Amino acid sequence: MALIKCEGCNGDVSDTAQTCPHCGHNMQHQFIKNNFGKTWAALFIITAFGILMVLMIWWLV
Ligand SMILES: [Zn+2]
Repeated sequence: MALIKCEGCNGDVSDTAQTCPHCGHNMQHQFIKNNFGKTWAALFIITAFGILMVLMIWWLV
């Protein structure tokens, strides 16, 4: 569990909260934005690993 900044009041809000407990700002779009970044990071790591595997196989053959 991590704390993220509310866009409405700039207060600390849990990343699992759907709305800000301070001002009631909807956090759902920020939650999606945060996870979207993580998804791209995971995709990048998987792609980099895949390329590394291909290079290793190419090196061994
Ligand atoms: Zn807020």
